[in-house]
Amino acid sequence: MSLPSASRKAPVRVAVIGAGVIGLAVALELRSRGAEVVVYDRGMEIGAGVTIRAAGMLGAAFEWAAEDDNRALAALSRHAGMLWPDFAARIERLSSGSIEYSDEGALVVARNDAEMDWLESLAAACQARDLPVDRLSAAALRAQDGALTGAVRAGLLLPEDRQVDPVLLLQRLAAALSRQGVGLRFGRQVERIVGGQTFLFPDGDRFDRVVLATGAQSAPAFVGPRHAPLPTGLPAVLPVKGQMLALAPSDAMPRHVVHTRDVYIAPKSRWVLIGATAERGRSDTTVVPAALAELRRKAVEIAPGLANALELSSWAGIRPGSPDDAPLIGETAVPGVLAALGHYRNGVLLAPATAEIIASQIIDGKVSPLAAAFDPLRFDNGDEAPHSRSGSGLDK
Ligand SMILES: Cc1cc2nc3c(=O)[nH]c(=O)nc-3n(C[C@H](O)[C@H](O)[C@H](O)COP(=O)(O)OP(=O)(O)OC[C@H]3O[C@@H](n4cnc5c(N)ncnc54)[C@H](O)[C@@H]3O)c2cc1C
Repeated sequence: MSLPSASRKAPVRVAVIGAGVIGLAVALELRSRGAEVVVYDRGMEIGAGVTIRAAGMLGAAFEWAAEDDNRALAALSRHAGMLWPDFAARIERLSSGSIEYSDEGALVVARNDAEMDWLESLAAACQARDLPVDRLSAAALRAQDGALTGAVRAGLLLPEDRQVDPVLLLQRLAAALSRQGVGLRFGRQVERIVGGQTFLFPDGDRFDRVVLATGAQSAPAFVGPRHAPLPTGLPAVLPVKGQMLALAPSDAMPRHVVHTRDVYIAPKSRWVLIGATAERGRSDTTVVPAALAELRRKAVEIAPGLANALELSSWAGIRPGSPDDAPLIGETAVPGVLAALGHYRNGVLLAPATAEIIASQIIDGKVSPLAAAFDPLRFDNGDEAPHSRSGSGLDK
């Protein structure tokens, strides 16, 4: 099969399936590079997926220092972190609204000897990679953030880590896209797409390219013009459940994102988020009171002022995992169909970098060197598609 080149004069028509942070960021980038874009989502409104259940931390340094065994992911995270200031400004400008982007930096704290060793290894990893990091004594930590009056021995300040409010982020992205002329089609579960020279959607619309950004749900099936299956070669999504609770904001809450080894606190203006469990293979969204109580206990240990805060809400979200915990970004075994999947615990952070990679591939036919490690066909256990893309009209 040979697809028309995306670099021809008429704008390329792209369907993005999934209106989470990944799909919307991809749509914005494609639109800004001249594509005609339509986003489909099965939800009746924005926020049907996991993004609004996230903490909104942009932990480029924290995640990067911790990811010693996946240097490509570390590099992608760092690149994403560098893109975020402009990405945030662009969304806020185009939507005329705030996403509560904060660049106060994140704190990492240690409570005991074992965590002191962990803190030191994080600091050393940051320094080895030229990531800014400040070592803080317990007193210096409290001077940075007066809420940390609990059992803290020492800490780090990671000045390049940031955060946003993920609820506002999705709302503003959707508003920005509407203003840019991107079609947002809600209440549309896309289950089957007919491929050929173009892609025929169930509503009768046709597109030159398709981007799969379906998060933890299974991606739609593709069939050929005579209805023979077209395997994408994608592995099954690996769900990782995360439970989180939201407390009422007060003067006693930390001003920064605070990480310990087993809990984090992410303060927003609407609430203080405390998270999160990581339950591999679980895709139910049941909230377990004992798990929430344990998260709260650990948060109160370092920020005692949270002890009496009113619980406003709690929830569970399903992180879209992959067999190696790294995302799937790039063309699938069906020429013209690209994956933007498997962002696991860092989809908010990685959104602008994913969008950049996908848009370059569709518009310019260029595969970013940063993307090589995230080839969606790197696993042997996909849906039995041949691991070749012969016949694709896209440049590699
Ligand atoms: C508790 C918790 C805390 C987290 N904290 C952070 C954090 O601090 N920072 C961070 O970077 N990440 C965090 N994450 C991870 C982050 O939430 C995800 O990586 C990210 O939101 C994934 O975005 P997405 O767009 O791929 O998926 P989603 O937001 O789930 O979007 C997918 C969309 O696709 C739609 N869809 C699916 N199938 C179809 C179909 N067939 N047809 C039409 N529509 C379809 C869904 O309705 C959904 O809206 C956290 C996750 C959890 C659970």
